[in-house]
Amino acid sequence: MSEQLGADFRFALERGQLSTVFQPIYRTEDMRLIGAEALMRWDHPDHGSVLPKDFIPISERDGSMVAPGAWIVSQALETLQQWRLASPAAQDLFVAVNLSPTQLLEGDFAADCDAMLARRHMVRNDLHLELTETAPIDLQRVGAQLAALHRAGFRLAIDDFGTGFSSLAYVHKLPFRTMKIDRSFVRDLPDVREARVIITSIVQLAHDLGMEVVAEGVETEAQHRFLRGVGCDYLQGYLFSPPVGADVFVAQAL
Ligand code: C2E
Ligand code: CA
Ligand code: CA
Repeated sequence: MSEQLGADFRFALERGQLSTVFQPIYRTEDMRLIGAEALMRWDHPDHGSVLPKDFIPISERDGSMVAPGAWIVSQALETLQQWRLASPAAQDLFVAVNLSPTQLLEGDFAADCDAMLARRHMVRNDLHLELTETAPIDLQRVGAQLAALHRAGFRLAIDDFGTGFSSLAYVHKLPFRTMKIDRSFVRDLPDVREARVIITSIVQLAHDLGMEVVAEGVETEAQHRFLRGVGCDYLQGYLFSPPVGADVFVAQAL
């Protein structure tokens, strides 16, 4: 991201340029809708829609993601509350938000989430937190925060498993309940042998560690079949739905 974009992002929230889209997550076994991942969108006045990959990494580093990161939690909970009012099918749904490690090191993230949940008479299980890695984490400091969130009853997922810093080095040391397999592995299914081996092993590893597995980026029926065959618990991807606005989500998924 250019320096200018970085500077602009600091004002994106207060200028009302951020919005949230939701992508459904399904249980593989019966394709029941179980939750939705909230993803941030930025509508820049000059550049139009800017993708998260172009503003998240730097905003995570310079601390400008902290306020938008808290904002998206409130957006996600607000939306879930509306869905629950609108449809019986939404009663058991959760919303998942992405969390950068820096958000955990500033302020009191758990207390902020609790306040947002309490205002809506929601419980911690209604909110899943996906930890994304763009830099190596300070295992001691972030780990302590994650352990506290886990003890408090928040459900934690390790995102993009198998890529970058999201790795075996700490998956067993941190209290994750869910593992999300990165799209780069799913993309090569089912033709590339190595991708089949890796995915099969990741599902086995997660289950042996007592975790549930979500595959992201499922785009084809053949990928879907393979993932079902190896026992992947949950699925997410364009095959089912791209991320959509809250209203479209109600019309399509609920
Ligand atoms: P992610 O958490 O791995 O989110 C999944 C990304 O894959 C999303 O991209 C989604 O639109 C895309 N996707 C979903 N299904 C498919 C598919 O079948 N095919 C393909 N090609 N793509 C698919 P998006 O929305 O551009 O977000 C990119 C990344 O930005 C996210 O990756 C996440 O790491 C980060 N991000 C998004 N919103 C937030 C946020 O509110 N806070 C933080 N900290 N990070 C965020
Ligand atoms: Ca995610
Ligand atoms: Ca991911």
